[in-house]
Amino acid sequence: AEQAVINVFDHALLYGDGVFEGIRIYHGKIFKEQEHIQRFFESAKVIRLTLPMSPEQLSRAMYDTIRANGVTGDGYIRLVVTRGVGALGISIRRTANPTIIIIVDTISLYPVEVYERGLHCIISSITRNHVNALNPRIKSLNYLNNVLAKAEAHAAGADEAIMLGIDGHVCECTGDNIFVVRNGELLTPGTWEGLLEGIPRAVVMELARKRGIPVRETSLVRHDLFVAQEVFASGTAAEIVPITDISGIPVGDGKPGRITKQLTEDFAAYRNGV
Ligand code: PMP
Repeated sequence: AEQAVINVFDHALLYGDGVFEGIRIYHGKIFKEQEHIQRFFESAKVIRLTLPMSPEQLSRAMYDTIRANGVTGDGYIRLVVTRGVGALGISIRRTANPTIIIIVDTISLYPVEVYERGLHCIISSITRNHVNALNPRIKSLNYLNNVLAKAEAHAAGADEAIMLGIDGHVCECTGDNIFVVRNGELLTPGTWEGLLEGIPRAVVMELARKRGIPVRETSLVRHDLFVAQEVFASGTAAEIVPITDISGIPVGDGKPGRITKQLTEDFAAYRNGV
């Protein structure tokens, strides 16, 4: 951290021009490596950025960085590509070489008590970026939309914010996807709503189907959150975390639900098994 530097003319710093990934290391191994590399390449493609490395070179570089940092157990990788150094002005023609940054760090988690009591959420007054403006499927370095909603949650004394799209449809939390359980069915907003196509999100859907729980990607509104029996969030860092209070209305009986607990166990078994 003391030696790594970034040029002040890098367009990532000046304009948030770049993309990133947050990846887990479990038992020294990169979790869902191919999926993260694919999403990284897709984000880069959509912002017209050609990555200066192949997927294989990227994988080798990540493992080299894990080794250089002496991580043999669990950890976290932040993979970043910047537009590169260029003259002032937003044109991508002004930049030359994208810079790849690989940070290996410890994982920053919610404290255990949050998993026991569940997250307390607000519904943010800040609209999620529209799919035709800056599609949240791009994991871009421009995260202010999320940063502001998270700050709003903290200012209100809550842990997290649920973000809605311009039409009032539920999108996701500020750094996690969202799931709702109602009448034995697992529901989650579809990617068309404006959300990151989370990698744990896909795992949760797969695990639920294996348990015989019907899963559906659908449009949800505020009301669906309030009448849900269970709500939880999924993400790389948090894995699965219950949501037990939304705008002061308890979710179900206000305690983490049965299906949330089952899927949490299934997720732990799954990531220990791969
Ligand atoms: N939504 C947003 C906005 C996120 O930043 C993240 C990642 N922290 C997720 C969902 C979860 O997706 P994943 O864990 O695959 O990165």
